[in-house]
Amino acid sequence: MTTWRVAVETRDPDAAGRPTPAAVVGHAYDMDAGEPAHPITQGTYRVHPDHAWSKAFLGWERCSECTGKVGRRA
Ligand SMILES: [Zn+2]
Repeated sequence: MTTWRVAVETRDPDAAGRPTPAAVVGHAYDMDAGEPAHPITQGTYRVHPDHAWSKAFLGWERCSECTGKVGRRA
């Protein structure tokens, strides 16, 4: 059983320096494999090892791609 935690991505501003609309996104992160549910390429991210993917989010936007892959309660 996979241990899903949250990796919070902070998206870089666009070329003009404007922040992107969803600037802080929570992704599912597989603690056992040591990798996110899908490659995160749009910004930098930080893993929150104590925050389960299934718990309520702290102002982060939940990644729809991760939700589709992992499910909401994993
Ligand atoms: Zn994601």
